[in-house]
Amino acid sequence: MQKGSIRVQTENIFPIIKKFLYSEHDIFLRELISNAVDATQKLKTLSSIGEAKGELGDLSIVVSIDPEAKTITISDKGVGMTGEEVDKYINQVAFSGAEEFLNKYKGQNENNIIGHFGLGFYSSFMVSDKVELVTRSFKDAPAVKWECDGSPEYTLNETDKESRGTDVVLFINEESREFLEPSRIKTVLNRFCRFLPVPIFFEGEQVNNPTPAWTRKPAELTTEDYQAFYKELYPFNEPPLFWIHLNVDYPFNLTGILYFPKIKQSFEIQKDKIQLYSNQVFVTDEVKDIVPEFLMLLQGVIDSPDIPLNVSRSYLQGDPNVKKINNHITKKVADKLEEIFNNDRAAFEEKWENLGLFVKYGMMTDDKFLEKALKFHIMQDASGSQFYTVDEYKTATGDLQKNKEGKQVIIYSTEPVQQDSYIKAAIDKGYKVVKLETIVDAAFINQMEMKWNDVHFIRVDADIADNLVDKQEGNESVLTKEQEEKLKKLFEQQAAGLHLTVEVKGLSKDAAPVVATRPEFMRRMKDMAAVSGPMGSFYAGMPDEVTLTINGNHAIYQQILSQADDDQQKKMTHNLADLALLSQGLLKGAALTSFIERSVELLGKQQTEKEEVAG
Ligand code: ADP
Ligand code: MG
Repeated sequence: MQKGSIRVQTENIFPIIKKFLYSEHDIFLRELISNAVDATQKLKTLSSIGEAKGELGDLSIVVSIDPEAKTITISDKGVGMTGEEVDKYINQVAFSGAEEFLNKYKGQNENNIIGHFGLGFYSSFMVSDKVELVTRSFKDAPAVKWECDGSPEYTLNETDKESRGTDVVLFINEESREFLEPSRIKTVLNRFCRFLPVPIFFEGEQVNNPTPAWTRKPAELTTEDYQAFYKELYPFNEPPLFWIHLNVDYPFNLTGILYFPKIKQSFEIQKDKIQLYSNQVFVTDEVKDIVPEFLMLLQGVIDSPDIPLNVSRSYLQGDPNVKKINNHITKKVADKLEEIFNNDRAAFEEKWENLGLFVKYGMMTDDKFLEKALKFHIMQDASGSQFYTVDEYKTATGDLQKNKEGKQVIIYSTEPVQQDSYIKAAIDKGYKVVKLETIVDAAFINQMEMKWNDVHFIRVDADIADNLVDKQEGNESVLTKEQEEKLKKLFEQQAAGLHLTVEVKGLSKDAAPVVATRPEFMRRMKDMAAVSGPMGSFYAGMPDEVTLTINGNHAIYQQILSQADDDQQKKMTHNLADLALLSQGLLKGAALTSFIERSVELLGKQQTEKEEVAG
């Protein structure tokens, strides 16, 4: 019989461990099962090189609860330990690790540190009054039992154990009784052990899938396999759009499968995040820094033993492997998108509604991605009939949409239904209008104008069609200066809650009599303000800026100007202004009501006038 004191300077390490690890006690199970898995894998390796003789037999790990004795036992049939090994690995190494760990990370709170500093085994004391370890090595040596009650004293004795392997018995302490509930253990197993590589049993049932899809060779997997694995991860989701199987072994190790989910609205609260594993042990689903920001909406798993899980977030950011992994993922995603775009453009276009979000985020946040994305970023024609890359759009629109500064003007609509009349007017001029209607597009447009210096975006209703590409000078109307001034005055009276600018132009006779447009700059500011913080409220509070362009060549103005009845004249112009505002969606509430009433009144008048003429 050996008695001893665990060699560690810090007098009583256990209270510190308990306190330090307070937030996530359930990690003990991950640690003990990881050890059991390691021991089993070691045995397999030794067997394969002939160092462990004979049949290995069943290698599954069993977790069990004894509610009477108030114990949890984790049993494996792995390499086991001899008495000397227990002394070395449990008494000495584990504790030197613990010390190092404490010195280095005092005051921090990072649960993932445990495994990496050999504190793994000792995490069992977070939930136990006493721990027993009964083990028998695959080597020819007597079985031993190690016992420790949480003080630095332990005992180590020879004992009887027939079979090879290790049983760790935890005598669960008062505060941790919850872990004696099978449902609680199941939850923990599900979280941490779901994809461990050795079969694990709890209450007679296997709880893990030891060969999840990401650990298999891409060539062996079918579409169904990938979809089935997605379903295994996220049982309630719609099938994914597509996936990327990551498989790298140089200059770092990384495997995994990333799925593109069906997401139409960005910023849906994301509940199904990418899960990070280290050799099939679940580590976290906080993958910030490892996965590029714009791909945070992806789902699936990443498994890398090279990600330093033992350190805090700030360290992670500076870690060269993390940076490399991040770059690699970005490149892989870009390559995959390009591949689909080239091989099956129709399928790509069909998925664009969902994909566009990722692609645009990527283009805004990552210049390397932007460069690659130019090949597959597309814009849909407002009619829905066609998609263009930016280059294709430039070719299709040619000089017609090149402005004086030599920039290609991309005319877009944020709401094709609402902006129908503007789109028609632009199409009549031979322009091509694309849809940019998602929530990211406002920011996207701003950023792309800065990054690409040869394009300029303008919303289809930002100006009259004649002015979309370049402001046209001249455009004299048939009206006299006095008539123009008179009309301006009449229109300027109709500014309810809006900031109106009125101009008279000589447009074609068939063009609309008056068009309301919203100058690009102010409108963008307001759009951005609507989704941004405090600076935004300044713009958000400003009245909507609207330009009314009166087409002086339209016949209706001759009629209005020749009206003898002042009141009638006012009402007619008011109605014209309202119609224009209506097409901008800016006529609401009381203004809309009075527009309707006025229209009815005017129609009635027209009727009586006709009758008078007839009579
Ligand atoms: P780590 O797993 O990081 O090495 P641990 O504290 O978890 O640190 O374990 C310390 C050591 O104890 C292990 O490296 C291993 O040598 C030994 N050990 C722990 N559990 C077992 C087990 N179930 N079977 C065999 N050896 C084990
Ligand atoms: Mg361990």
